[in-house]
Amino acid sequence: MTAPLARLPRPPRLAYCRECGQPFYPRRHDQAFCVDACRRKRNDRERSQGRTALPLILAWRLERKPGALGALTRFADEVADGERKRRREHAAIREQVEGRVGR
Ligand SMILES: [Zn+2]
Repeated sequence: MTAPLARLPRPPRLAYCRECGQPFYPRRHDQAFCVDACRRKRNDRERSQGRTALPLILAWRLERKPGALGALTRFADEVADGERKRRREHAAIREQVEGRVGR
Protein backbone atom coordinates (compact mmCIF):
# COMPACT_ATOMS: atom_id res chain seq x y z
CA MET A 1 0.00 0.00 0.00
CA THR A 2 1.22 3.52 -0.72
CA ALA A 3 1.26 6.41 1.73
CA PRO A 4 -1.32 9.15 1.20
CA LEU A 5 0.25 11.98 -0.78
CA ALA A 6 -0.23 14.46 2.05
CA ARG A 7 2.11 12.44 4.28
CA LEU A 8 4.97 12.19 1.83
CA PRO A 9 7.79 14.66 2.33
CA ARG A 10 7.76 17.37 -0.31
CA PRO A 11 10.58 17.24 -2.80
CA PRO A 12 12.91 20.20 -2.32
CA ARG A 13 11.99 23.13 -4.54
CA LEU A 14 14.81 25.02 -6.16
CA ALA A 15 14.60 28.80 -5.84
CA TYR A 16 16.82 31.64 -7.00
CA CYS A 17 18.20 34.30 -4.72
CA ARG A 18 16.75 37.76 -5.41
CA GLU A 19 20.12 39.34 -4.75
CA CYS A 20 22.86 37.12 -6.17
CA GLY A 21 20.70 34.99 -8.48
CA GLN A 22 22.24 31.73 -7.28
CA PRO A 23 20.00 28.68 -6.90
CA PHE A 24 19.21 27.47 -3.38
CA TYR A 25 16.78 25.24 -1.53
CA PRO A 26 14.59 27.49 0.66
CA ARG A 27 14.01 26.44 4.25
CA ARG A 28 10.80 28.48 4.34
CA HIS A 29 8.18 28.89 1.59
CA ASP A 30 8.71 32.65 1.44
CA GLN A 31 12.51 32.69 1.61
CA ALA A 32 13.78 35.01 -1.13
CA PHE A 33 17.50 35.10 -0.38
CA CYS A 34 20.10 32.32 -0.24
CA VAL A 35 21.87 33.71 2.82
CA ASP A 36 21.36 36.54 5.29
CA ALA A 37 24.23 38.50 3.72
CA CYS A 38 22.28 38.68 0.44
CA ARG A 39 19.13 39.85 2.23
CA ARG A 40 21.12 42.55 4.03
CA LYS A 41 22.92 43.61 0.85
CA ARG A 42 19.61 44.05 -0.95
CA ASN A 43 18.03 45.92 1.97
CA ASP A 44 21.04 48.21 2.36
CA ARG A 45 21.05 49.05 -1.34
CA GLU A 46 17.30 49.76 -1.44
CA ARG A 47 17.50 51.88 1.71
CA SER A 48 20.40 53.84 0.27
CA GLN A 49 18.53 54.34 -3.02
CA GLY A 50 15.52 55.60 -1.09
CA ARG A 51 17.69 58.03 0.88
CA THR A 52 19.01 59.41 -2.40
CA ALA A 53 15.65 59.44 -4.20
CA LEU A 54 13.58 61.19 -1.51
CA PRO A 55 15.41 64.55 -1.56
CA LEU A 56 15.37 64.46 -5.37
CA ILE A 57 11.61 63.85 -5.36
CA LEU A 58 11.02 66.66 -2.86
CA ALA A 59 13.27 69.05 -4.80
CA TRP A 60 11.21 68.30 -7.88
CA ARG A 61 7.64 68.24 -6.60
CA LEU A 62 7.73 70.30 -3.39
CA GLU A 63 10.49 72.85 -3.91
CA ARG A 64 10.09 72.88 -7.70
CA LYS A 65 13.83 73.45 -8.15
CA PRO A 66 15.04 73.93 -11.70
CA GLY A 67 16.84 70.84 -12.95
CA ALA A 68 15.39 68.66 -10.19
CA LEU A 69 13.45 66.42 -12.55
CA GLY A 70 16.61 65.91 -14.61
CA ALA A 71 18.54 64.93 -11.49
CA LEU A 72 15.78 62.53 -10.43
CA THR A 73 15.63 61.02 -13.92
CA ARG A 74 19.42 60.51 -14.00
CA PHE A 75 19.29 58.78 -10.64
CA ALA A 76 16.33 56.63 -11.75
CA ASP A 77 18.29 55.64 -14.87
CA GLU A 78 21.25 54.65 -12.70
CA VAL A 79 19.00 52.48 -10.52
CA ALA A 80 17.33 50.95 -13.59
CA ASP A 81 20.72 50.19 -15.19
CA GLY A 82 21.86 48.38 -12.06
CA GLU A 83 18.63 46.39 -11.93
CA ARG A 84 18.82 45.56 -15.65
CA LYS A 85 22.39 44.28 -15.22
CA ARG A 86 21.39 42.19 -12.19
CA ARG A 87 18.42 40.70 -14.06
CA ARG A 88 20.61 39.77 -17.03
CA GLU A 89 23.09 38.07 -14.70
CA HIS A 90 20.30 36.23 -12.89
CA ALA A 91 18.76 35.08 -16.17
CA ALA A 92 22.14 33.72 -17.29
CA ILE A 93 22.57 31.79 -14.03
CA ARG A 94 19.06 30.40 -14.30
CA GLU A 95 19.59 29.37 -17.90
CA GLN A 96 22.81 27.63 -16.99
CA VAL A 97 21.19 25.76 -14.07
CA GLU A 98 17.97 24.80 -15.85
CA GLY A 99 19.74 23.97 -19.06
CA ARG A 100 21.86 21.52 -17.11
CA VAL A 101 18.85 20.04 -15.27
CA GLY A 102 16.97 19.61 -18.54
CA ARG A 103 19.71 17.49 -20.16
ZN1 LIG B 1 22.20 35.14 -2.64
